Amino acid sequence: MTKAALPQHGQSWEEIEALMRAKAQGDVKWREGRTGLYVFNAGPDVERVQKAAYAMFSAENGLGPAAFPSLAQMEREVVAIGLGLLNAPGGAAGAMTSGGTDSIFMAVKTARDHARTKRKLKEPMNLVIPFTAHPAFDKAAAVMDLEVRRVPVNDLLADVAAMEAAIDEATLLIAGSAPCFPYGLIDPIEALAEVAQRKGVWMHVDACVGGYLAPFVRMEGAPLPPFDFAVPGVSSISGDLHKYGYASKGASTVFFRSNDLREYMPFDAGPWPMGRMVTPTLAGTRPGGAIAAAWAVMHFLGVDGYREKQRAVVSAREKIEAGAARLGFRVLGKPQLGILAFTHDSVDPLQVHAKMMQRGWFTAANLEPRSIHLMLSPKHNEVAEQYLADLEASLRDVSPATAPSAATYAN
Ligand SMILES: *Cc1c(COP(=O)(O)O)cnc(C)c1O
Repeated sequence: MTKAALPQHGQSWEEIEALMRAKAQGDVKWREGRTGLYVFNAGPDVERVQKAAYAMFSAENGLGPAAFPSLAQMEREVVAIGLGLLNAPGGAAGAMTSGGTDSIFMAVKTARDHARTKRKLKEPMNLVIPFTAHPAFDKAAAVMDLEVRRVPVNDLLADVAAMEAAIDEATLLIAGSAPCFPYGLIDPIEALAEVAQRKGVWMHVDACVGGYLAPFVRMEGAPLPPFDFAVPGVSSISGDLHKYGYASKGASTVFFRSNDLREYMPFDAGPWPMGRMVTPTLAGTRPGGAIAAAWAVMHFLGVDGYREKQRAVVSAREKIEAGAARLGFRVLGKPQLGILAFTHDSVDPLQVHAKMMQRGWFTAANLEPRSIHLMLSPKHNEVAEQYLADLEASLRDVSPATAPSAATYAN
């Protein structure tokens, strides 16, 4: 990075806004629905609520609940609604964090401090997670000097027997995803939780990308397996508001089966000149805007609104699954939520993916197995046919069977 001078003179908002709009020209056109990554596009009505609520509380600070009882109350209400959606028992507890990585970090930290008091674990402690678990676990482990044991999956799902075999006297926690990000598949949470209970280890469910989607998809009638606090051995759950909760970025939730568990989460630091500093999570200053926007969107949509948005997500997924299968792609596993991945047995899916990127579809891909990845939003239900038409064209571009070969032209 080179150094740059701060402009000597300030500029007007109009000038600055124009500069920023010019910068944004090069960004993906997610509002048109051609982005299947990073953004959850629930439409302009939700975006307007997010922005207005964020702006109202953008200077306020969640670090000071006594100064801002409004934020403290909104956070309590958001957490309480999340607990309700995830079938938490009475006495369960949770907190808002800045994102999924933060929520997973706090769950691991809480499990560790609980274990130090309540269990006699050898150190370094280890985490036993499926190959498909999010790298946030590795980050938490790196910071807390824990060992990560990634266990190969079985049919793309957490291999319960192999994970059980990887547990030893130093195992702090096991985890499953609902769903995992790479394939959008829900791990066998009940079986994992049964192992966790039997072995006396903490069980975390990473529902970062499913926590605010699955409950509504289930209300719409999909036969989802139990994945939340309805499963007895589940100790904690992470669920991101800034994903399928359609909140502004910087908002997630972490939940614990009981307040006795949650009590190991806060930091009690100091003393320093101001005494002790007790904070619920890693953050000091916490953005009031992110808390307010999450609260506002939840109340803007309600159960009816979420059901409608999530129905559109599932409908988009079903259209694309069917269309991709017609083109000879093979969907990985049986996705039930908003993420799917599909591969192809005779062309390289990553080459097709590159062609799709050229056609303006900004989406992710998997290397194991090589496959195209889509994280769908309600908006994608409107553009699914367009996507499939481009997928067909991209497939033709790279397909040796149908593309005219060089030899054909030579003749
Ligand atoms: C997105 C995601 C995370 C991480 O969340 P961030 O908000 O990006 O930090 C963790 N786990 C899963 C399954 C996710 O999809």
